Parts: sequence; C-alpha cells; structure tokens
Amino acid sequence: MTDAPAVRTTCPYCGVGCGVLARPTGPEFAEIAGDPVHPANFGRLCVKGTALGETLSLQNRLLYPEIAGARASWDDALGLVAAKFRDTIAEHGPDSVALYVSGQLLTEDYYAANKLAKGFLGTANIDSNSRLCMSSAVAGHRRAFGEDIVPTVYEDLELADLLVLVGSNTAWCHPVLFQRIAAARATRPTMRVVVIDPRRTATCEGADMHLAIAPGTDVALFAGLLRYLHRSGRADRTYAAHLEDVDDALAAGRTVADVAAICGLRQSEITKFYELFASTAKTVTMFSQGVNQSSAGVDKVNAIINVHLLTGRIGKPGAGPFSITGQPNAMGGREVGALSNLLAAHLEFGRASDLALLRDFWSAPNLATNPGLKAVSLFEAVAAGKVRALWVIGTNPAVSLPNGDMARAALAKAEFLAISDCANTDSGMSAHVRLPAQAWGEKDGTVTNSERVISRQRSFLSPPGEARPDWWIIAQVAARLGHGAAFAWRNAAEIFREHATLSGTQNDGSRLFDISALARLNDAEYEAMKPARWPRPAKSIALSRLFGRGGFPTPSGRARMVPTPYRAPANPVSVEWPLVLITGRLRDQWHTMTRTGKTARLFRHIPEPVLAIHPDDMPAMEDGDLAVVESPWGSGTLRVRHDRGLRRGTVFAPMHWTAEFCAGGRVNSAVNPAVDPLSGQPEFKHTPVQVRPAAMDWHGFALTRRLLGSKAAEWCAVIPLEGQVWRHELAGHGDAADAHAATVASLGGPDGWMSLRDPAAGIFRAAQVQDGRLAACVFTGRNHLLPARDWLMELFAHESIEIADRRALLAGRRADGAAPEPSICVCMGVGAGAIRAAIAAGCDSVAAVGKATTAGTNCGSCRPEIGAILTEMRVKEPA
Ligand code: SF4
Repeated sequence: MTDAPAVRTTCPYCGVGCGVLARPTGPEFAEIAGDPVHPANFGRLCVKGTALGETLSLQNRLLYPEIAGARASWDDALGLVAAKFRDTIAEHGPDSVALYVSGQLLTEDYYAANKLAKGFLGTANIDSNSRLCMSSAVAGHRRAFGEDIVPTVYEDLELADLLVLVGSNTAWCHPVLFQRIAAARATRPTMRVVVIDPRRTATCEGADMHLAIAPGTDVALFAGLLRYLHRSGRADRTYAAHLEDVDDALAAGRTVADVAAICGLRQSEITKFYELFASTAKTVTMFSQGVNQSSAGVDKVNAIINVHLLTGRIGKPGAGPFSITGQPNAMGGREVGALSNLLAAHLEFGRASDLALLRDFWSAPNLATNPGLKAVSLFEAVAAGKVRALWVIGTNPAVSLPNGDMARAALAKAEFLAISDCANTDSGMSAHVRLPAQAWGEKDGTVTNSERVISRQRSFLSPPGEARPDWWIIAQVAARLGHGAAFAWRNAAEIFREHATLSGTQNDGSRLFDISALARLNDAEYEAMKPARWPRPAKSIALSRLFGRGGFPTPSGRARMVPTPYRAPANPVSVEWPLVLITGRLRDQWHTMTRTGKTARLFRHIPEPVLAIHPDDMPAMEDGDLAVVESPWGSGTLRVRHDRGLRRGTVFAPMHWTAEFCAGGRVNSAVNPAVDPLSGQPEFKHTPVQVRPAAMDWHGFALTRRLLGSKAAEWCAVIPLEGQVWRHELAGHGDAADAHAATVASLGGPDGWMSLRDPAAGIFRAAQVQDGRLAACVFTGRNHLLPARDWLMELFAHESIEIADRRALLAGRRADGAAPEPSICVCMGVGAGAIRAAIAAGCDSVAAVGKATTAGTNCGSCRPEIGAILTEMRVKEPA
C-alpha cells in the first residue's frame, strides 16, 4: 500500500453493491480491498471486485469529444447534440427523440437524464438497459404492493430456514451474497436451500434440492404451490386482512399433476418442495434474471409474491420475496424514474396530482404525461425512422439487446446518434457525436443496491483527457436548449438534495420511497455519507423490512394477490428450431466487457465465447468444436462446451462478447425479441434455436506480443494474457497453409522465425524468438485439436527460451511432458490439477482443499467449482 489514504467507494458491477476500499497506486492502478464496515459485504469481495484495480487502464477509453470521428471541442459537440434534438423536436415532435441510459449510471446522472427527457424535452422516451434486467420485478412489485418496493434485506438470507433460489445463479452472478449464504449455512446447517433452474449451475453445489424446471414454466410451479398452501391450511389467517383478490389468485392455481406436466418435473419432487416450503415459516424466495427475463416475467414475479402474501411470510426476519438486481444502480434508476413508464420519486403517470406535483417541482411546463417506449420497442422505432435522434448514455445496446442485428441496424440508421461513454463500444461505431464520460474511480455520486441501501461511489482518480461527469454533460445540453436554470447544479451533492427533496414533497406516507431525511445534507455531509437504507423520511421512523404488518401503498392499504394463469413462452421450439437457448452471465465477466476485458486474470476461467450443450443432445459435437447457434433472428459462432448439468433440450451461452473480443461470438444476435406484455422485458431465457457444426476448413491460434485484433481471421476470439501478450483463437474457410502464412506475415518481418510445415497432415507451426524471448507463435491445423496453449503461454514469461523449450515449441508438447490444467481459482492461480491432487491426497472438503492449495481462500467465487470436483471424484470412487 502507498501512503495515499484508501477511499471508501462501491463496486461498479452487480446489484449486491459491495463496499470497496480503493487506494490509488499509480495513474492506472489501485489497491482494492473489501470495506469491512459496509453492510452489503462486511469486507468480502468476489473475483471481479478483487480485480477492480487492474481495470483502470486507459486502454479503449474515450478521452475527447468527437464529431464524425474527429476530435472536437466540448462546446461544439454539446452544441451539436442540443441543436439536433431541438430541430428534430421542432419538426417531428418530442417523441421523435429518445435517450437510452444505463444501470451503470449514478443516481445523480440518472436523475439529470430523466429530468431532461420527461421534464424539458417533453418525451418519456427514456429507457434504461435495466429494462433488460429487472423491469419485470418492478412491474410485479407495483401490481402487488402498489409501489416498486423490495421488502426484504440481505440479513434475511442468513436468517431464513429455507432459501429458495429461482432463476438465479447466485454463486456466479451475486457471489458475495452466495458467500454470505454459505457462511450462514456453515454455522446453521439446518438451513435448507432449493435451487429452481433449468441448468445445474455452481449455485446447486451443496443445495438440498435442485428442480431442473423447463425454461419459462415457473408461473405454473408457483401457482401450484399457492394451491397446495391453501389446500393444506397454510394460509395465514391473520395476514389475510392485509390482502385483496385472494380468491382470484387461487382460482389460477394448478394441481401437482398439471405442474409436473408443464414444468417437466416428477410429481414426487414437486410435492417434496411444496411440503418443505409449506412447513417452513422462515422462507425467503430470491429471484433474478431467470424469472425476470421472460415473456411471462411479471406473472412469474407475482406468482412468487403470491405464495409469500398468502402465508404472511413477508417483511419478517428471514421471510419474504426478494428480487436481486443485476446492475450496480438499477435500483437508483427506479428511484428517479429512469424507465420510460416510471416517473421520478415513485410518482405515477396515471395520477394527475402526481403529474402536477412534478410539473411544479421542476418548473417544467413541458412535462411528458404518458409513458414512453420500452427498450426493444424504442430501437424498433429507431429502425423504423420514428425516433430520429437518439442519445445513448453509458451502455452498449449493439451487444446487449436481443435481436442484436436489428439493434445494430437501428443504430446505424438513426438520423442522429450521440453516445456518452467512458469507453469505445460497438454502439459508438456509428455515432455522429461521442462524448467522453468519467469512469468508475473518477466519478462521484450515489448508487442503491438490491436491499435499498444507498451508498456513495467516490472519486479516487483524476479524470483523464477531457472526461466529464454524465450529469454535467446532460446539464450542459439542457443549458444549450434554454433550460440552464433548472440544471444549474454545481456538484453531485446538489442533485442528490433535489432528488431527496422531491421524494418527500407532498408525501404523507403515501409513497414509501422517501429519503427526505437526507435532503439537508450539506456538501461535507454528503461527502461523508454512510450507507443508508430507504425509506428515510424526515417526519417518521425508518423501517428496515417492509409490509410485516401490512401497510401497502395501495388505495386500500392492502396487497393485491394477482391471478397468474400459465402462458407458454412466446416462441415455442419446433422441428426446425428444436433447442432452447438460454443466455446469461459468467462468473468472471461483466456485461459487454468494457471493464473486465481489461484484465487478463478474468479471462482465465472461461476465455472464449462458449456454447454449453448437453452431450446427449448432440452426440456428434465434441467438446472444443466450433458450433453455429442459429435462430430465426440471427446467429453466433461459439466454442462447444459439454455440460451434463443442462436440462436436455437446452443450450446456454454467455452474453458478454463484443466485436472487440469476438465479433462472431455475439450471441444476442440470435436472441428472440419477444417481451413481457407488461414490463417489456425481453425473453433472454427462451429462444428456439438450432445448433450445427461451424464447418470451418481450418483452425488455429496465435500467441503474440502485439494485438492482432478480432478481425485477424474469419472467426477470431481475442484473449488478453498477462504481460501484454494476446492469445488469438482463429478459424476460417479456405486453405490452412494460406491462412497460416497470412497470420505469420501480419506479425512483421521474417527474422527469428522457426517453422514446421506438414501439408499432408495439415500441420503448420511457426514460432518467432527475438532477443532470446518468445515473440510469437502461430499454429494452424484442420481441426481444433491443436497443441495445448497453456504451456506455450507460460513461455512468454521466460526471459530466454531454453534449447529444450525451442525443440518442444514446434513439437507442440511441453518439454517436461506435464499436461495443462484449466484454471479454477483465478485469485490464487490454482488449477484443476492441483485441486484434484489435493483431493486424491485426502482433502475431503472445500476448506481442506483451500488449506492445502490456497484455492478458494480469497474471494471464494470458485468454491462451488471446487465442491463440484470433490463431488465428481467421490462419485468416481469405487464402491
Ligand atoms: Fe462487486 Fe462482486 Fe460485490 Fe457484485 S458481488 S458488488 S461484483 S464485489
């Protein structure tokens, strides 16, 4: 550690919202530790959080304003954005413009964007990429509770006697919560965990039950549970006074036989789950994208909420439905109304008094009075030329939206496209104006995590180039549109005070989102603000858990039980499209890799875009083959990875890869654009597809000290390695010898190359040694069964290449004959081989393996995988 003090801030990745201590150690590095007093993580971090200090380089940063790809002044760039928006609105009306924003924004940025669009541009066409992540939960909460409220807190996960994890790979996507759950189970082994997911994920390791449900059928499972609870007398008669429409909801209940047929489960396992749920008062049902990302996402949310309402298991220690958000500030966006159907401070479009309140508060005569377009519809409107001017802020819709080719075409077709971002992204390629925003570590404001805790994200680095805060950029455009007085903030604290004041305005308790107690923080108090859970009303006492004694913000004060008849996914499988594609996240990557793509460490776990398939579904397809996954909407080419934990008939692919890392691996091109009719959230978990071999003529790889980029071959995955070395996985059509020669030629002059060519066997190998060090190696063959890369990668760290290694280089085998091993513990650099050896030597628990190898002893994200190896090796032991 340097002498510089550590700055308390918040992790920019997932909705757990862990507190981080960051101490800058250079212009592009910082030492990172978990904040021991932050209530989300109490010092823990996952592997992504631990590696944050390695993601601060200026590689791929957008540093200066640009107009038409050329550097411009801030004044010219802002002036052009304002002029285009003003002219477009004047000619085509306010709904001809739109903003598309991000759950990565700080609340203050989000507030400014929403105020500009809805208050002053006069359009509600402002939607967030949070639409893709949790808008079904928002809609479900509003239907049931009358307001978008998460009633539960993280401590409930530790206090529960039964934890039901639905559509949530918690171990990978919310790892610190998984660590908290694992620690609670270690001290209280009676706690039970049930995982409901079509895939046997890392979260299932150690679970008491895994229900491998058919994708998209959760509504039927929970409607059946509702009926079971009612019929077995488990309804809470006292809590019934806080409920309405109970009979309507019960009428949509399902028999166990029905549920088994729809969900593809055995009746016995359904009954076992139902009885466990029915007999355990302290139950938390935690759900995430597997529930939300569905054409029936809102009904799934309400089906889950219904069983908690019926049993009164809500707002009590260790009990409640719990929506976990994906992004770090999806919750903050919900508070300021940065979805097209929401208004700031949980005000409602449908209430004239709320519109009047907001119009007065903002002095905004131009206030939008009707909801705007939701993400997928918004981009369809851009493609159709109805939305003519678009401003994308802090997100990469070209990669993250479903039907990705349509999204790309829409961006390219927009009459005017402005992008504000800290990074160069796929979406920015066709932008007319690009505006450099500050990144994590530079910007300053607040975020809200999944348990309603508002935390400060603080600056600890000087912004590079001419990067500016997002709120400043928005305010400058507003000023150029003639609204300077309403956007005359001098800092983020002033925006926060305005936001907090609005939350308490004309709020007599009718809106639970009330943080007016924070409205009087001065700049110094805002700077020092500790994590604070809302509600924080100025006039009454704040409660941690909500609804334990009713008190719902509905006209009747009672919660609504919503009938949830089962609907099949929007696009069923067919003879032509026989498999279901599920997309999701990996343990060590985040969104479109703009940050995690900067650290080699985070590529060790899964380096290429993969397609997980059950080997029995496609017996001809081998592990490591390239496969095309194709749907009626588009396709991607991915590396096959066998996974017997998948439900038969499903395939899984991660959504992270961009044109920068693997243009062909962008699987969102194939994802269907079906959305939930209420929330507009896309159905990322159910796209009918076909899978076939990619049928490439040649495969290869190049390890180089110079980045060749993802256009180095027809199909190319770029993988950063330690020490400024890059691995490029390559494949294409045509002659393997020509492809090999072209790649070698792209690396420069002929000096220092050794080569081995065997055209008859289809073997082409070359290695370049310069100044005694390995500079590059290029291997090409007829299929993907090329020499192992791991030991070749190790050679790049050597100061000189020994004679034995030179011989081994072209032979494609390491000199000592040892086999490569996949990386399991990225933090401590421990591979599967070392873990297997420790288990074989007698380590019989994850903790014992950790003691012997150090694997899993830092962030703990790999512990489920260590557990899986333990289980696998125990199974293989002779009886
Ligand atoms: Fe960041 Fe990991 Fe915590 Fe999520 S769980 S906030 S990614 S450290």
